[in-house]
Amino acid sequence: MRIAKLWSAGLVVLVALGGVAIAQGGGGRRGPTSGPVSGKGELQVYFVDVEGGQSTLFVAPGGESLLVDTGSPDSRNATAPRDASRIAALCELAGVTKIDNLVVTHYHSDHVGGLPQLVGMVPVGRFIDHGVNRETADVQGGASTIAGYNAYQKVLTDSHAEHLTVKPGDVLPVKAMHVEVVSGDGEVIAQPLKTPLAATGEQNPFCAASPLKEAENTENDRSLGLAITFGKLRILDLGDLTWNKERGLMCPVDKLGKVDVYIVSHHGLTNSGSPALVDAIAPRVAIEDNGPRKGGSPATFETIEGSSRLKDLWQLHTAEGSDARHNVTESRIANLPGPDAGNTLKLTGRMDGSIAVTNGRTGETVEYPAP
Ligand SMILES: [Zn+2]
Repeated sequence: MRIAKLWSAGLVVLVALGGVAIAQGGGGRRGPTSGPVSGKGELQVYFVDVEGGQSTLFVAPGGESLLVDTGSPDSRNATAPRDASRIAALCELAGVTKIDNLVVTHYHSDHVGGLPQLVGMVPVGRFIDHGVNRETADVQGGASTIAGYNAYQKVLTDSHAEHLTVKPGDVLPVKAMHVEVVSGDGEVIAQPLKTPLAATGEQNPFCAASPLKEAENTENDRSLGLAITFGKLRILDLGDLTWNKERGLMCPVDKLGKVDVYIVSHHGLTNSGSPALVDAIAPRVAIEDNGPRKGGSPATFETIEGSSRLKDLWQLHTAEGSDARHNVTESRIANLPGPDAGNTLKLTGRMDGSIAVTNGRTGETVEYPAP
C-alpha cells in the first residue's frame, strides 16, 4: 500500500517536473533568456511543497545529497504522510537512495516534524543540527517544539547514522559544495566570510532601514544558516532566522556579501527578511517556501522585489491573504489557489553562476545567465 501510494506521489512529481519545456522568457519582467536545461556538473535544488514549512533537497553532481528540513508531521495519514511522502518522491525522482546529510535548521514542527516519518522511507547518512532545544513550553507553540525535538532525539538514538552538532564558522562535511554555517543556536559568525566571490566586511548602508524589532526568543532565533558555494554560484539559506539575528550578521558590517540565490527566510513572514539582509545580499533569484496562508507577507514581498539585482522572486504558493500586487505573476508560482497539488519548484545551479528555475506546475523553465 505504501509503495503504491509513494509511487503515485512520485508519478505526480514526475509528471510535474518531467519533460521540461525549454525556457521561454515570456512574462519575465526583467528579461530572462532561454538556454540549456540540463547537463552534467549541475547542482539540482528541489523546493518541496510542504505547505508553508521548509524542505529543500540539494543534489550535487555525482549524487551527493543534502536535505534541509523535513516539513511537518502528518498524524492523520500514517501510511502515506503528506510531507515525508513528497520528500521521498522527490528523492526517488532525483535518484537519491540515501540522504547523505540531513540538516535540521531548528526544532519547529514545520521543519523537523516530518523527520521521523521520512527516515522510515529514505535512509539518512548524517544528521546535522545546532544542538539542544532551548524553547520552553511557556512560549506559544513551545509544547509542539519540545515534542518535535524529543521525536528527533529518539530517531538519533535508534539510528546508526552519524550525528553532528555545528556552530557558526563550521564547514559541513559535504564534498561537492562548500557549505559554511553562518548562524546557529542564536549565534552568528564573528568575522565576515572569506569569499573571493563577494565583498564582505564593508559597512552595510541598509542597516538604518532595519531598526531592531521586539525579540522573539524562540527556536527561530537559533536557526542554522548556511552559505553554500558551488563554483561561482552562491546560495543563502537561513531557515527561519529572525530579523534581529540578521542584524548580527549584517550590521554594522556585511559579513555575507552578495548572493545569487536567496531562499527566503521564514517563508516570507515579517519577522525575518530585513532590508539589512536582503538589500545587502542583493539576490538575483529568490525562492519563497510560503504556504497559501502562511508567509508571503506584503512587506517582505516589497523588500525582495525592491532589491537591486533581482530578476525574479518565485513563490511555492499564491499568498492568498495578499492582493495581486503582492504576488508574483502566475508563471512564477508553483501552486495556485484551489486543490492542493503539491507542485515543486526546481532550481538548477551551474558553476559559472547561471541558474535555471522550473515551475513544476507548468513545466516551464526560466534561465538566468551568469552575471
Ligand atoms: Zn518555519
